[in-house]
Formats: sequence, structure tokens, C-alpha cells
Amino acid sequence: MAEINTPEEKSLNFIEEIIEEDLKSGRYKSIITRFPPEPNGYLHIGHASSICLNFGLTKKFPGYTNLRFDDTNPTTEETEYVESIKDDVRWLGFEWKNELYASDYFDQMYAFAVKLIEKGLAYVDDSTSDQIAAMKGSPTEPGKDSPFRTRSVEENLDLFTRMKNGEFPDGSRTLRAKIDMAHVNMLMRDPVLYRIKHAHHHRTGDKWCIYPMYDMAHGQSDSIENVTHSICTLEFVPHRELYDWLIEKLEIYPSHQYEFARRNLSYTVTSKRKLLQLVNEKYVSGWDDPRMPTISGLRRAGYTPESIREFCTRIGIAKRDNMIDVSLLEFCVREHLNKIALRRMVVFDPVKVVLTNYPADGSFEIVKSEDNPEDPNTTHREIPFSRELYIEREDFMENPPKKFFRLAPGQMVRLKSAYIIKCDEVVKDSNGKITELHCTYIPESKSNADTSGIHVKGTLHWVSVAQAISVEVRLYDRLFKVENPSSEEGDFKDYINPNSLQTITTAYAEPALRNIRFADRCQFLRKGYFCLDKDTSEEKMVFNRTVTLKDTWAKEAKKA
Ligand code: ATP
Ligand code: MG
Repeated sequence: MAEINTPEEKSLNFIEEIIEEDLKSGRYKSIITRFPPEPNGYLHIGHASSICLNFGLTKKFPGYTNLRFDDTNPTTEETEYVESIKDDVRWLGFEWKNELYASDYFDQMYAFAVKLIEKGLAYVDDSTSDQIAAMKGSPTEPGKDSPFRTRSVEENLDLFTRMKNGEFPDGSRTLRAKIDMAHVNMLMRDPVLYRIKHAHHHRTGDKWCIYPMYDMAHGQSDSIENVTHSICTLEFVPHRELYDWLIEKLEIYPSHQYEFARRNLSYTVTSKRKLLQLVNEKYVSGWDDPRMPTISGLRRAGYTPESIREFCTRIGIAKRDNMIDVSLLEFCVREHLNKIALRRMVVFDPVKVVLTNYPADGSFEIVKSEDNPEDPNTTHREIPFSRELYIEREDFMENPPKKFFRLAPGQMVRLKSAYIIKCDEVVKDSNGKITELHCTYIPESKSNADTSGIHVKGTLHWVSVAQAISVEVRLYDRLFKVENPSSEEGDFKDYINPNSLQTITTAYAEPALRNIRFADRCQFLRKGYFCLDKDTSEEKMVFNRTVTLKDTWAKEAKKA
């Protein structure tokens, strides 16, 4: 990761350069940006990049950022999404100046449309959408004028009023801008501005049965709010001409549109439409399933806002669409969690160790261990140590290969923050399964007071059987088996990783894990970073693995 610049070293990105120039030249004294989500789904990591950009600009330069819900499409939008979007932006650490809704401007937008009609720049078209498409032409061929293009201003005003009044059925008429059916930019060939849709809107209810199209709503909302720099993704480059045309003809505040590349993340999909399919078809437990690339999914998985902001800073902004390796996101969260996580020991698949030279009267002692060795002021937790312990089954081998530094017959290891033990005897049941390891501990080898003179290469995590608490652990892996499921042949859902969730219902944890709260982050020693899941109940604590300690996928790639 050495090639990645730290934020301080980074120079201004191209949008920051534009803004700096605009402020220097006196074009603006301060700037206004907006984050404009359509409330038709939960925000994902791509949106985080847009949020960090828009809000980041007004942290860096004088001005402010609005949160505007682009809610002009009545059929796909819901209040649940509005609430989740607000939660996510706040959780990421940003506060908007105004909470705004494009639907609040429906009256104004209607007046804008009337103004265009009055100026002879818009007309009501009775063609169907298929007929309109057929008359569009192609990039190499001009389109054809609609037979309704020459209607009088009076007739257009009358028909548009009646469209608004609900006299016509869905799809029977549209309002179109009168620009140029031979324009080189296909979007300028008399684009549709308004359509009829008898649908209930989540905020305006049944007041409207005509709704503005994206181009008739977005720039106008920007202008109404005096947005100086309207930032969107590259697919809107061809729309900029129409954006400017409408502002010019309406003689309203000149907002300007700037475009940057969409951010896509490997091994997942970043499209609300596709994410909705995963939710509806139950491939995941919901929008906040920890395997989802949604902000709420990442939050539930244990990601921190700091790590996501750091990720967005590191990827910066680009002018060409590209795929970001998910391991960079994982790297960012690992780096942050290493600094803040409380260390705890949890055994996932136990085998019992009996220390034959430790008192058998049920007594135990307390050893202390650092909550976080990365923190110079770390606190310590108390861990009970006794005659019967659990270690991880995979940390023992009866016939180990060379360089196996964990436990084996006759071999010694250190138990973290406690003693060195030696394995003397393996006990098996009638099926040959190992049930117990009989070991002796070296009383002089206690951590921090070791006078044994013995050096061992392996250190294992462990828990004391009598005091262990049982917890559930959910281990997540990438949701897709391939880097870019959307570009593969067939349906993107054919590439779902069938092993993306492994649940361990009974893992054994040291008792200090009981004090963990939802805001805490843990490192389960040698296992990964974990956080408490909302499914936790009085009876059972449930933990999600945020990320492994190392990049296990990189290891796989090297092996292959
Ligand atoms: P989706 O295709 O996932 O539905 P969208 O672009 O339709 O995304 P909006 O709610 O319209 O979603 O987006 C709000 C803002 O976030 C827009 O300015 C949009 O350009 C930006 N945005 C959306 N997806 C990405 C992405 N992958 N990378 C960067 N910015 C994005
Ligand atoms: Mg959209």
C-alpha cells in the first residue's frame, strides 16, 4: 500500500482546483453544494464518495452543503429511505445546512414549464413514448418533428393545464422542450419535460398527476437553492447542455454542473436497483446485512465512519469510471480498528486442555492482559486461569509437520498473558476423536515474571472453561465470487458466493467480553475484528466479523 498518498500529501483534486479559482477570481465569495439522493433505496459506498466530496468541499472552502431529496418520481420513493439516508449522512460525520425536497418546488417547476410554453419553447405532444422514440433519429441521423410541434401557445397552455387537472390518462401526453430535432446531442432533440402519472407521492400525496422529468427538476432545484457547484457523476455529461439551456431560457440563477467518475467497488454491486433485488429475493437479510456495500450494512458489520472517510479520501475523485479494489476499504478499516479495538480471547472450535499439575479443587487465578497494546495508556482486563482451559482445536496437531509452532505431543507453547504449557498426553474417544489434551504448566513461566528461561515460538489464545461465556459469532466473506458481477455473462446473482456467511453458534469467550457495548470494537486475538450485532439478546451475545486480521484473499491469490 506504499504507493498510496496520505491525505496531507495529496494535492487539490480537479473540482477543488475549479473552486479555488472561482474564489480567487471573485466569481463567488462562498460556495453552495448539495448531496441529492433519490430516496428509492439505501445509500451505498459509492454515495459515500459523493457525500465526502460535496460536504468535504464546504469544510475546506467557505460555504455550506444542503441535503436535497430528489423525489420527483412518485412510484419508487418511500419515507423509510428518507430516514435511512439522513441517518447514514449523519453517521458518516456530516451535517447539512438545509434539508430540502425537490417535491417542494413542484409549483415553481410548473410555473417554469408555463414560462417555457409562453416563450414558445415547449409544447404538448400527444405521441406515445414509442412514437417519440421512433422519431428521435440516431446519432448519425436527424430525428423527425412531431406533428404536434407546431401547436399554438394558447393550445399548449390549455392542454398543459388540463394535463395538470387530471383530464388525461397516464402516458397519453407529454410536455416537450422545443429545441432541435437534428441536434448532434440526442438529449437536445425535444426532450420530454413533464409526464402524466396518476400516482401517490410520499410527500405531496395526490396533489399532482403530472411530474417533471429529471432534467426539468434537477437543474431547476439547484438554481432555486443557488447551488454554485452542482456535482454529479459522468453519465450526466450529455445532460449538461440541457441543464444550461433550461437555466438560460428560464432566466434563473446560473448553477453549474461538474462531473466526476462513479466509484465501483470490486466483489460487489453498487446500484440501488440491484441491491434491492438482493433484499427482495432474500439473498441477504436486509439492506443492513453486513455483507451489503450499503452504509448501513458496513455500519452493522463494524466499519467506522473514520475508516470510510479515509477510504474516500484515498480513492479521491477521478474523471474516468473505474473499479476500486475492496481490499483498500478493508485495509482502511483494519488500520483504524487496530488503533481502537479492545483485545479479547474467543475460542471458536474448542478442545479441552487439562493442566494435570494445577490444583483440582476448582480454584483459579487472575492474569492481566492489555486491552489495547497499541495504546500507550492502555487499561488492563482480568482473565481467569485454571486447571481446565479451551484452546482452538486447529492449534493442536498429533503428528505435526516441521515448523508447526503450536501445540503437539511433547511440544511447548505459551498461553497468551499466562504460562507456558507442555502437552504430555492425548485423550481420545472410541471414534478416535480427541477429547482432551493432558498438559503440564510451568509455574515459573508466568508472563511478565518469567524466570523459566524457556523460549517458545508459538503463543495461543485460550479461555478458562468454568468462567467462559458462550457467544454466537458470524463470519462474513465477500458476497460475490467474481470481481465485477455486473459485467459477467448472465445474471449478476449467478455469481453470489454461497459461503459468504458462516455462523458459529457456540464460541467460548473470556468473561470480560460480557462488558462489550454496541459502540465498542474488538479484536478477537488471532481471529479478526468484531463488533456486537443488533441480534444480541439477554440470552446470547452475537458478534459480526468486520474484517480478518490479514488480507486472506491476497494469500489465496499468491497460492494460486
Ligand atoms: P444508483 O444507480 O445506485 O441508484 P444513483 O446515481 O441513481 O445511484 P442517486 O440517489 O441519484 O443514486 O445519487 C445521489 C448522488 O450520489 C448523485 O449525485 C450520484 O451521482 C452520486 N452517486 C451515486 N452512485 C455513485 C457512485 N457509485 N459513485 C459516486 N457517486 C455516486
Ligand atoms: Mg438515480
